[in-house]
Amino acid sequence: MEYVILAVVIAVVAIGAITGLVVSGRRRRELDRPSQAPTITAPAPAKPAPTETAPSGTGTEVETEPGAEPETAAEQPTVEEVRAEEAEAAPAIEVPEPTAGRLVRLRSRLSRSQSTLGKGLLTLLSRDRLDEDTWEEIEETLLTADVGVAATQELVDNLRTRVKVLGTRTPDELRGLLREELVKLIGTDADRTVRSVKQGDGPAVVLVVGVNGVGKTTTTGKLARVLVADGRKVVLGAADTFRAAAADQLQTWGERVGAHTVRGPEGGDPASVAFDAVKQGIADGVDTVLIDTAGRLHTKTGLMDELGKVKRVVEKHGPVDEVLLVLDATTGQNGLVQARVFAEVVDITGIVLTKLDGTAKGGIVISVQRELGVPVKLIGLGEGADDLAPFEPGAFVDALLG
Ligand code: GDP
Repeated sequence: MEYVILAVVIAVVAIGAITGLVVSGRRRRELDRPSQAPTITAPAPAKPAPTETAPSGTGTEVETEPGAEPETAAEQPTVEEVRAEEAEAAPAIEVPEPTAGRLVRLRSRLSRSQSTLGKGLLTLLSRDRLDEDTWEEIEETLLTADVGVAATQELVDNLRTRVKVLGTRTPDELRGLLREELVKLIGTDADRTVRSVKQGDGPAVVLVVGVNGVGKTTTTGKLARVLVADGRKVVLGAADTFRAAAADQLQTWGERVGAHTVRGPEGGDPASVAFDAVKQGIADGVDTVLIDTAGRLHTKTGLMDELGKVKRVVEKHGPVDEVLLVLDATTGQNGLVQARVFAEVVDITGIVLTKLDGTAKGGIVISVQRELGVPVKLIGLGEGADDLAPFEPGAFVDALLG
């Protein structure tokens, strides 16, 4: 009798296990399906701010729209199942911090440049006697902060003239004077907006270029957040197919704000990924396609040529609106060398200076603009998701002067 009961129990457990396997296999197949139909995880609504649950009314629920033809009645999950699976599979969509006034909020991150450039200069200029030695020290301070030789000379000449005219100097007067001269050097007339608004039918296309390690992928991800925060719909292109983790890294950034990432096989052709990303952006009707390119070593001519190819291939869809060169502010003169080489291959339209939080060389903002004749449009002030700020000369100088 006991054997009979035991046999029945084993049979029941076995049937249960087999049923479980079949169900989980089906669930897995259903979960896999969005990779063939990427629109199901496509961007969240631009406005109002994205919420934690799956978006509705955005045209993203292609498979669940009423009237959409199910593949087979038996395989089609219910709306509730799709929503439950999306909630389970997709990370919660975050609401990025608004970009207006970000630089002001992040001003303390410039503390190292602040103490060298800002406070250092103010202290020197406040001395009772401004003799030749002091002016030399002022010059050295500017050069150490990577302001560059020509700009340093210009600034010192202007300061000397104006301080003489001023006669006695109050701290407020000195601050005002230095502020004016620094802002003048940085320039206020350049258009610093990232061209991310669609012109005509197609999305705006932004290429992000720079050597390995400068923070290119991170910047592309942060920029996606900046654009989403400003109400844009974004598709990301992971054209850095050489660095193993780059595509995963970018996709994670995208998922956090509900932006779809187009990627190709590891080691595959970057130009074809870039092409596909723009194609996807057109199909999805997004505002901006952001393409992260491979971190080409500027010494390898062949690899640099490939960057030119990426641009040409993307241009088959239409013009590239923006080419952002990412430079690591901590690399000083080396960054300027990189800038020169990249400028020979592609027309750089904007500069992103990263890691300004980790350097006393904030003057690179001035020297790199002079070198390339292109404005700094964004600055990186930390590793946090919202630590990328639109560059504003006035706010930057205010932050430097503390
Ligand atoms: P890539 O090889 O150019 O794509 O470089 P990554 O985007 O992988 O970034 C390299 C490292 O730089 C990462 O650890 C980033 O977190 C870090 N990074 C990027 N931007 C900044 C920044 O503005 N400040 C700081 N402190 N670190 C940054």
